Amino acid sequence: MTASTIPAQSFPAPEPGQGAARACAACGSAQLVHHRASRRTGRSVLSCRACGLRAWAERATFRHDLEDPAGALTFDYDGYVNGKREGTAQSAWQEALDILAGELAGRPGLNLFDVGAGDGEFLDLARQRGFSVSGNELHAGAVDIARSRYGVDLMLGELRDLGLADAYDAVTMWCVLAHVEDVDELLTDSFRLLKPGGILYLQTPRWTRADGLALGAMAASGGRVTRIVDRRVAEHHWQLHTARSMRALLGRHGFSDVLAIPKARYSLKSASYLASLGMPDGLARAGGRAMDAAIKHGPVPRIVLDVFARKPE
Ligand SMILES: [Zn+2]
Repeated sequence: MTASTIPAQSFPAPEPGQGAARACAACGSAQLVHHRASRRTGRSVLSCRACGLRAWAERATFRHDLEDPAGALTFDYDGYVNGKREGTAQSAWQEALDILAGELAGRPGLNLFDVGAGDGEFLDLARQRGFSVSGNELHAGAVDIARSRYGVDLMLGELRDLGLADAYDAVTMWCVLAHVEDVDELLTDSFRLLKPGGILYLQTPRWTRADGLALGAMAASGGRVTRIVDRRVAEHHWQLHTARSMRALLGRHGFSDVLAIPKARYSLKSASYLASLGMPDGLARAGGRAMDAAIKHGPVPRIVLDVFARKPE
């Protein structure tokens, strides 16, 4: 049985007020299937029958201190950096810049704005590729690092508060969309930021067949087999898109020419990824070697989408 065949009425949605969404966050459809919650985290998944979006049903009840502009970076940044797969981000950045440069060819003096620019390394690369660069961050610490490490001056604060409109040829977001609570606000602000004819690029997690199998296993086990779903649909990944859901979402915001490309891009080393699923260290190392070989040589789930869309002239 696949996840999509589980009858919705078996798992009644929470009562209003418990925070579950009533309409698809991408296409607006009410054709939602509310899956059984994980026993470990209490989180449940909503599937949209119309566009294929999968989302954490109770996201609206969640508050994270990373979203507090006054908050500190509290996650294990060193562990995160050390667990990163060498060169994966850099080659993804080059690919995205190649396509942006092609799509924007002929426009004079290209400029690019990166939303949630982190330490500024991507903007440093974009500048080497000939773009004038800007970006924003919610954390003063990141703004300082970007300035000292790469000489990149970021703006401190939310996009909405920066007062920018029709200003950039390219707007980019690396794994920002699935973090923010208000996706519609982010896309409204990004659309405003672009010049007419400009291009939005974003990378975001993609719903795969493997995720569907994991969700089916969670349902079949009465919510007990949860590791993969818990890891994939979480606070920092609360929406997993399909090409169809992305076209619906961006179309609703006025974008045209939406191109969504599935990618097998694993930004963590496999052993770190398996350890993050709760696998013991020894097993994670052995499994990680096998998975690294598969990523290099064979078909593996394409877990992210590269998305390009144009603001009409
Ligand atoms: Zn939908």
